Amino acid sequence: MSNSFSVTFWGVRGSFPTPGAQTARIGGNTPCVLVQAGNHQIILDAGTGIIGLGRALVAEHRKTGAPMNLTLLFTHTHHDHTQGFPFFIPTHFSATHINIFGPRSLSQDLEEVIARSMLPPVFPITLDELACERRISNLNEGEMVIFDPDQDQPQILRAHRESKIEAPETIRVRFLRSFSHPQGVLIYRIDYNNQALIFATDTEGYIGGDQRVINFSKGANLLIHDAQYTDEEYAHSTAPKQGWGHSTWKMALEVARAANVKQLALFHHEPMHDDDALEKIEKQAQKEFAAVFLAREGMQINLA
Ligand SMILES: [Zn+2]
Ligand SMILES: [Zn+2]
Repeated sequence: MSNSFSVTFWGVRGSFPTPGAQTARIGGNTPCVLVQAGNHQIILDAGTGIIGLGRALVAEHRKTGAPMNLTLLFTHTHHDHTQGFPFFIPTHFSATHINIFGPRSLSQDLEEVIARSMLPPVFPITLDELACERRISNLNEGEMVIFDPDQDQPQILRAHRESKIEAPETIRVRFLRSFSHPQGVLIYRIDYNNQALIFATDTEGYIGGDQRVINFSKGANLLIHDAQYTDEEYAHSTAPKQGWGHSTWKMALEVARAANVKQLALFHHEPMHDDDALEKIEKQAQKEFAAVFLAREGMQINLA
């Protein structure tokens, strides 16, 4: 079994896709991040970035003939985090087994929300018609997902039983339910072989830093954090973005510093920011925190 632990960005843009020459360096697809931990492939969110990832997974499957064993974690079900799912080609193969986890929204199960997002007349193929084998589960307060080295499929575990897990090669996926985003969002932490990754997209900062997110992120190797706005946009006198559920890049920096993370990736880029604007932000941010960079489509980071 491989010990690799890596992150690949397939979609880094917030709110809606932004194709075109002005965004070609950073990328225009909406959120999707692939985490490779040991032999497991864990996908975070299904924005349009998941479409290219799906094509790559199918190409690999055609080469090796190996079944596609995948896990997809949804942070929440806003459009920019789900719109790629109907075009995620591996779900059309019977050689695919996919475990999908995410929050229950209002009174709807995750499965119902996904099914409703691809119903005729808005989409030609229903969830029931997909050829893949799948299990779709709500994540409830007090639960976590673990990938036991002795088991094929991930399991949901009550978090208070976590101390019973001894093997460091067990992948642990914990989440924090945050209400700093409209309808709430799950912030994920993935621990593997004493390394940790935090995925904190679609979250808005608080004065002094979001203390819950800071505690949750303590000592992580990589924090991927929402950084949609500049200070000027956030607190604009006539068109403020306060309360929209997103952070400024300075809020992301504040969390990274207080949590003492090794690296910070700025994520969920504002669609109105072109490459030049984003690279200017990156330079400013690097003056304040050496290990910060823009999440860029296609970028891979090794954590192991
Ligand atoms: Zn979003
Ligand atoms: Zn959202």
